Amino acid sequence: MNNTELWQSVLAQMQFNISKANFATWFQNTEIITKDEGKIVISVPNAFSKEWLSNKYNKLILKILRETDDTIKDLDFVIRPQPLKVVSEKTLPEIDKNDSEQLKFEELKINKETNLNPRYDFENFVVGSFNELAHAAALAVSENPGFTYNPLFIYGGVGLGKTHLIQAIGNKISRNSKKKKVRYISSEKFVSDIVSAIRSNTIENFKNNLSSTDVLIIDDVQFLAGKNKTQEEFFHAFNSLYEKNKQIILSSDRPPNAISELEERLRSRFEGGMIADISLPDYETRLVILKNKAQEKKAQFPEEIIEYIAHNVKKNIRELEGALNKLLIYYKINNSTPDIETAKKLLKGFVFSPFDVANYKKIIETVAKFYNLEEKSLFDPTRRKEIVKPRQVAMFFLRKELKYSFPAIARKFGGKDHTTAIYAYKKILRENEENNKLTEELNLIKQRIYSG
Ligand code: ADP
Ligand code: MG
Repeated sequence: MNNTELWQSVLAQMQFNISKANFATWFQNTEIITKDEGKIVISVPNAFSKEWLSNKYNKLILKILRETDDTIKDLDFVIRPQPLKVVSEKTLPEIDKNDSEQLKFEELKINKETNLNPRYDFENFVVGSFNELAHAAALAVSENPGFTYNPLFIYGGVGLGKTHLIQAIGNKISRNSKKKKVRYISSEKFVSDIVSAIRSNTIENFKNNLSSTDVLIIDDVQFLAGKNKTQEEFFHAFNSLYEKNKQIILSSDRPPNAISELEERLRSRFEGGMIADISLPDYETRLVILKNKAQEKKAQFPEEIIEYIAHNVKKNIRELEGALNKLLIYYKINNSTPDIETAKKLLKGFVFSPFDVANYKKIIETVAKFYNLEEKSLFDPTRRKEIVKPRQVAMFFLRKELKYSFPAIARKFGGKDHTTAIYAYKKILRENEENNKLTEELNLIKQRIYSG
């Protein structure tokens, strides 16, 4: 394996260890320049990257390098500025050629105008009963934007295909009609754009820009919770687009009624169109996804191995890809597929282990996160409604999933009387029967407790 291949294989693995945004930021324009007596020198474009990579990612990069080549002992970074690009970005609306040639990584091929990643397509999106409704709604919207379901609201847990699906809509619309202005934006970016537009007095520009889009796609809107100024601007933008029959597409990790600290008027807008969820794929679908992805990468693995992954990697689709990727790297390095025993070793980190089942820590963590609370707030001796309900939900899960005794639950919650724990359990159990919203919340929380 030469240096380029070695670095490609490191990057392939890094992708699964850090977020896409970080990956694109820190690994763009990096390469191995020398490999000498166990020392690798990596060139980076600027001092900022150098500092970041050597402080934050040094260990991880070295670990991955060593897994591939155990003679590697040490790592260094040098700054090698990239030649200035002569063409301005404006004249290159499609794909930045430099980036895609240097690194064949999809995350770096984002379209500068729409912000869409061209790899997210309907063609490579596998449909099963777990995402059927969301897929059908997305397809309908892509065929007649603005006039079928508006807004389209897709929700589901991490790594289950929300971003893929909503970007596929955008990609299809902009391919079908070059005139349509499509814009994809993550909620975090949306918030920070609004904040900086307010600060620099350019909010009017920002609004005009938004209102000229034909299809506005906002990912992970749960992050708008508690951001009042952004919600206000978004509400107006939403209305002005909606009145002009412009398509709005939203994704979130939960349904609108479970997003706390979301203004009522915005919630009711979100609920005004089509809401569709994506849940977990079953075994058969996991198998299909794996086969498709292997084929995409032009690799063939024995049935036994694919089945092993489908059986054991259940958390989400991102993990399935990660597992497959690990084997692809092996394949690339050794020029042959691993046998099942080697595959099992390689996939250790992905496979469901007894530690992945529900435990006390996970229940507390998940419940607190779901209700946007700090974990310690669940234990506050307060009667505030915002705390009491999550606390009761946590007690409920400790009983229901872990079979904790009521006195044990009471002890965990600061020595409360065990009748408090009984009361909490029964109350949630009863409300679960009567209140659909709570049922939905409990289901989402449970799914998260188990899929971590
Ligand atoms: P989310 O936004 O829900 O966290 P993503 O859309 O980022 O999830 O999906 C995670 C990974 O799984 C992506 O690489 C995506 O392409 C892939 N993926 C998700 N759903 C599917 C699917 N139905 N078919 C094929 N690949 C999928
Ligand atoms: Mg996403």
